[in-house]
Amino acid sequence: MKKIALEEHFMSPGLDEYWRPTMADVPKPIYDGIRARLTDFGELRLKEMDDAGIELAILGVAGPGVQVEPDARRATFKAAEANDFLAAEIAKRPEHYLGFAHIALQDPNAAAAELDRCVRQLGFKGAMINGQTLGHYLDERQFDPFWAKAEELGAPIYLHPADPVQMYQSFGAYKELQRATWGWGVETGTHALRMVFGGVFDRFPKALLLLGHLGETLPFMLWRLDSRAKLYGVKLKREPSDYVRDNIAVTISGMFSKEPVECSLAALGKSRVMFSADFPFESISEAGHFMDRVEMDEDTRADIAWRNAARILKIDMK
Ligand code: ZN
Repeated sequence: MKKIALEEHFMSPGLDEYWRPTMADVPKPIYDGIRARLTDFGELRLKEMDDAGIELAILGVAGPGVQVEPDARRATFKAAEANDFLAAEIAKRPEHYLGFAHIALQDPNAAAAELDRCVRQLGFKGAMINGQTLGHYLDERQFDPFWAKAEELGAPIYLHPADPVQMYQSFGAYKELQRATWGWGVETGTHALRMVFGGVFDRFPKALLLLGHLGETLPFMLWRLDSRAKLYGVKLKREPSDYVRDNIAVTISGMFSKEPVECSLAALGKSRVMFSADFPFESISEAGHFMDRVEMDEDTRADIAWRNAARILKIDMK
């Protein structure tokens, strides 16, 4: 089954300084292997994609990128530099690569302008945001210009996990619960719910948020979100679950397991679930084999593997 993959990472030379600290605990041989694949746009990456049946990958910066840069002007400049770098790599293999913009949210108006440039001039398919930006979350009113632009362009925004401002006290000494094990799901699911409960999708009803990891547990929680929103007198135009169904779509990145896929399909519908691998942090071949073999009807498999992505990202693929 051919596939489009949306959460596939790369690293540009100017962003290495932000990424390196996140890998401090990783043994050097593993770090070197990941870095070699992150910075490769040729044989290493294409061979793995080909083996897994991935025809097209939407490339996005490995986080956190400029979102941790305290100097807003430097962040804005370096984000544009990374986007130009990616556009040049895509131009070498346009049949295999497309891009998500890297955005410095430190200056929301400049962020909107860069999203516009990336979509209209560079042909990117939306943006990938790596969690909070210096403690600020996407529901804040200061980001309305960014959402207005995303809605105007019909550009989906992929919210990728990153660390919270501070590690959760409740994790205590259990450092292994941070990040991908559990912490990133809590942080990213919370970030998405801040947008739902903060009325972002009342203000921008056509905005579309993409979440990896099958929606960071949200598909499992819909009934409870609606039930508790009534208890607490939440004032939104619609029920929380309506926004999750209509303004959020999810990918299977890093969740190669049948039960959560079934839950997501049942909760969101088969038009809202898409394939992804999470290169180079997960095994592309495991992702591809899972997609090819997981029990489901062939129509749904084609929807998840590539049709939904082609429709949502406006990619011409037959
Ligand atoms: Zn990822």
